[in-house]
Amino acid sequence: MLFEIDKNSDFSIHNVPFGIFSTENSQKRLGTAIGDKVLDLKGLAELGFFNALDIPLSVFGNDYLNNFIGLGKTKTNSVRTLIQSLFQSDRLKEYPHLWYHLKDVKLHLPVYSRDYTDFYSSQEHATNVGRMFRDPANALLPNWKHLPVAYHGRASSLVGTEVGIYRPKGQVLPKGAQQPVFKATERLDFELETAFIIGKDSEQGSPVSTAEAEDYIFGMVLLNDWSARDIQQWEYVPLGPFAGKNFATSVSSWVVTMEALEPFRVRGPVQDPEVLPYLMYEGNKNFDIRLQVSIRDQGGIKTEICRSNFKYMYWNMAQQLAHHTVNGCNVATGDLMGSGTISGPEKDSFGSMLELTWNGTQPLTLNDQSERSFLLDDDTVCMTGYAEKEGVRVGFGELSNTVLSAKG
Ligand code: MN
Repeated sequence: MLFEIDKNSDFSIHNVPFGIFSTENSQKRLGTAIGDKVLDLKGLAELGFFNALDIPLSVFGNDYLNNFIGLGKTKTNSVRTLIQSLFQSDRLKEYPHLWYHLKDVKLHLPVYSRDYTDFYSSQEHATNVGRMFRDPANALLPNWKHLPVAYHGRASSLVGTEVGIYRPKGQVLPKGAQQPVFKATERLDFELETAFIIGKDSEQGSPVSTAEAEDYIFGMVLLNDWSARDIQQWEYVPLGPFAGKNFATSVSSWVVTMEALEPFRVRGPVQDPEVLPYLMYEGNKNFDIRLQVSIRDQGGIKTEICRSNFKYMYWNMAQQLAHHTVNGCNVATGDLMGSGTISGPEKDSFGSMLELTWNGTQPLTLNDQSERSFLLDDDTVCMTGYAEKEGVRVGFGELSNTVLSAKG
C-alpha cells in the first residue's frame, strides 16, 4: 500500500470515485480521491498507465467527466480497478507529483448536465409535506404510490461545493394577506438528497426498463435542492416548483460509482398497492447509505441537525428511470436525477428545515444556543454520506455551501 488510509475516510481503496479538480498551477482535470489525497488521472494517463485500455488522453484533461463516463462502464471500471491495483503495488512511488492533499485542490462540478430531474420518492417526506400543507388525514395524493412523482428541474443553476448561494427574492403571500409582496425569502431551506448520474444515452421513443436501468446509471452524488418555502407555497399551484427551487441546486464533487456501492444493496420497502408491470423489478435495488446534515454558523460552530438513510426510499432508481423513459423521453450522459428529499421515520431524520422545525413552529437550537426556523445568511449547510459494512467504507466527502445575503 502506498500510504495509510484512515479507517474513517470516505475515500477508502474500495471507493475510487471520479471528480474534476484544479490547482494553482494546473487547469481542470480528472482525479480520484484516496484517503486525504487526490490522484491526478491526467498525469497518470500521460505516463502511459492507461495505454492498455485504449482511452484517448484528452478524456482525462476535460472540464467535466462526461466524455470519460461516455467510454462505458467496462472501460471506466477498468480504470477504477487499475488504480486500486496500482495503489496496492509500489508502482506509483516514484511519482509523488501526481498526488495532492485534498485541502490544496479546488473541486468543481463533476458533470455537465443537460437536464436535471428531481423526484419526490421518500414516503416520509411526501407524508410530512402533505400533512403540513394539505390534509393530514390524506397526506399522500392518490397518484403517489402508483408512480414516482417528479418535476423537471433547472440545469443552468447547478453548482458545486463551496459555491455561495444568494438568498433569492420573489413573490410571497404574507399570512392572511390578499395580495402578494416582493421580498427576499424568509424561509430558505435545504433538501437532503442524493442523485444518480446517467452513464449512457437512451434513444427517444425507446423506454429503459427496470431490468436495463442500472446499465444507464454511472454513479451517485449528494445533492442539496435549495428551496425558498414562502415563494414555493404561493407559486406551486397548479404546475409545481419554479422560482422557489430553480435559483440553485448544489452537487457534491466526487461521483461514487455503482460498482463501489454494490456491497451496500438492501431490499426496498414493500410496495402496496402492487405497481404496474413496467415498474416491477427484481433484486435488491435500495442502498444502505447513511446521510447527515450539519449547519455551521457564522462563528464556525457546527451542529448536526439530521441523520437519514437512502435505504428508506419508497421508489428506487431503476423504477425512477423506467418511469422517466416509459413515455419515450430520452436521457443523456451526464443527466442528473435527484432522489427527492430523503426523510426517515424519526423526527431527527427529516431531510429539510421545513420538516425538522415543522414549518417553522418548532425551531432548532444550535450548539451556540441560537435558534433556527429556516436558514440565516452566513449559515453553511454541510451534507455528508457514506456506506459502511464489515469494515469497508465508501463515502461522498462533504457538500458544503454558504448562504449569502440577497443581491441588490
Ligand atoms: Mn427536491
